[in-house]
Amino acid sequence: MTEILLKNADLILTMDESRQELSKADILVRDGQIAQIGQGLESEGEEHDVSGCLVTPGLVNTHHHLYQTLTRAVPGGQDALLFGWLQTLYPIWSRFGPEEMFTSAQIGLAELALSGCTLSSDHLYLYPNGARLEDTIAAASELGMRFHPTRGAMSIGESDGGLPPDHLVEKEAAILDDMVRVVDAFHDPSEGSMCRVGLAPCSPFSVSRDLMRDAALLARDKGVMLHTHLAENDEDIAYSQAQFGCRPGQYAEELGWTGPDVWHAHCVKLDVAEIDLFSRSETGVAHCPCSNCRLGSGIAPVRAMRDVGVKVGLGADGSASNDNGNLMLEARQAMLLQRVANGADAMSVREALEIATRGGADVLGRPDCGRLMPGKRADIAVWDTRGIESAGSWDPAALLLAGPMSVKHLFVEGRQIVRDGHITTIDLPRVIERQNTLARALQA
Ligand SMILES: [Zn+2]
Repeated sequence: MTEILLKNADLILTMDESRQELSKADILVRDGQIAQIGQGLESEGEEHDVSGCLVTPGLVNTHHHLYQTLTRAVPGGQDALLFGWLQTLYPIWSRFGPEEMFTSAQIGLAELALSGCTLSSDHLYLYPNGARLEDTIAAASELGMRFHPTRGAMSIGESDGGLPPDHLVEKEAAILDDMVRVVDAFHDPSEGSMCRVGLAPCSPFSVSRDLMRDAALLARDKGVMLHTHLAENDEDIAYSQAQFGCRPGQYAEELGWTGPDVWHAHCVKLDVAEIDLFSRSETGVAHCPCSNCRLGSGIAPVRAMRDVGVKVGLGADGSASNDNGNLMLEARQAMLLQRVANGADAMSVREALEIATRGGADVLGRPDCGRLMPGKRADIAVWDTRGIESAGSWDPAALLLAGPMSVKHLFVEGRQIVRDGHITTIDLPRVIERQNTLARALQA
């Protein structure tokens, strides 16, 4: 039995059923789970004094392309729209291999961890030069991050009227075979699981209707989740109407792509009927506010979604379309965007933090994560509110207005992976050096 005691937190935002906020309280962790929360707790185990700190559930990232940390701020893509941006980056990504996938995933996940993230999904949809999904699973496992990798795919290349070059797409039979392989090898459905695999054709415009349907059937057969990009911008809606004769929501519904085991990235352009469809079917949304700003896609109707009970989580999205990977900045941006669209009372700091924690966990089908309650997983972020960002703040919980954007400590499944602002599990300076060497080689 292993115990850890977090002692004397200034404030704990539990994100439990009644959203309790506890002052001067402790958290007792036992074997990766939260055992008790309250005052005056005792333990024989390791003790951390967290006085002067705010404690929240670890943040949850519901959409990312970790491999893209190797192509941040590429000059030809800096100011392009989505489709032009993709066409600039595809030739660079086609030179990646296993080492690029592993190193870029370590960088992306470590960056997320430093911003308080304890559970991340990833959407890997290209597999050049022998790259495999397990390259990223190994990176998450070394770091100690809870990980939901998805086996993405593209099958319609340029010669078939698609966007990606032909050598970056795969045959659909081979895609389905590899989906079966990675689910059988790496998916752990148990409570407290550190790795769950999902199936994720890249987008409706990069695979066939058949593959969308077959992936949905396979996911239901295996009991895993489904993920893709949907209704990201106006070009996306126009493409759907021209190619499929319907809006993205109808396309998704017809192919089995709605339900509590499905979540879609972006959904910037969902209309009222589609928001209603997502609500009725319990389909989740990965809201990626910085990426939407960066690519000029628009403001996702998050207020309208939440008002009718659509599950919404946050996504950093690929570094190449962000180019940052700080999930706290996403939470702040999510709050600001709803205020730009709907007024200053449209989203509170607490609601934005709720979306970032419990909201994301619900989108990923993880009711065992994203809240600090006895029996839930010990994924915990500790924020030091004695620094300059919080100096003069009247509300330590208002991190998104005045507070640190990176954590002091971070625990995943009760294991400390950030201590005093530094990653404990991997040699981060060495990984950064390796990443920069790989990026220079790609530029050559
Ligand atoms: Zn994306």
